[in-house]
Amino acid sequence: MSSNSEFWELYKRPEWQEKRLEIMQRADFKCEECGSKDKTLHVHHGYYERGKKPWEYPSSSLRCLCERCHEEYTCLMLSIRSWLADLNFLDLNRVHGYLIGMIICSCKFAHEYETQSREFMVGISDACHLEHNDVLFASQQREDGDTFAISFEKIREAIATRQKNGSEGRREAYEAGLREGLGAHRSELDAKLYMVAG
Ligand SMILES: [Zn+2]
Repeated sequence: MSSNSEFWELYKRPEWQEKRLEIMQRADFKCEECGSKDKTLHVHHGYYERGKKPWEYPSSSLRCLCERCHEEYTCLMLSIRSWLADLNFLDLNRVHGYLIGMIICSCKFAHEYETQSREFMVGISDACHLEHNDVLFASQQREDGDTFAISFEKIREAIATRQKNGSEGRREAYEAGLREGLGAHRSELDAKLYMVAG
């Protein structure tokens, strides 16, 4: 049996069927992106790790998606990965920070993230529309002097403070500007992305 067919055999195992059902029930048998109920639903893996069985991933990394959203998602992830390949270590750290910043903004749980990278912190401040100093204030410098522990809760507090102090409008203006700008260049941008993905 080739390793490829062994891989697909895993998807017939009861452990996967059980996990798949759990994710579909969580999604109330709807696509978690577009809300569609009448299209074929798939359970999508947000990432893969070598040697890990399909059901061994945390439920938070699995998504119930309709066929169309699944295809779009896969294409987008491929495009993102191919762009990431062009970045150097510093830029990757900034992107990493940006991703964590987006998660901080949308999640509720308390968590801490340790980093030695200033670029990582710049990424967080960009994603959360904070000043770089806000992120420094939300961090604790470890004894080694190089490592910072960034508190998710403190970042959320900093966001709330900024919003209270009237910078809410700035964020809205930024997002509206971004949407407008993207709208104008949408087809051009899509064409570029699909060229890379394809
Ligand atoms: Zn969908």
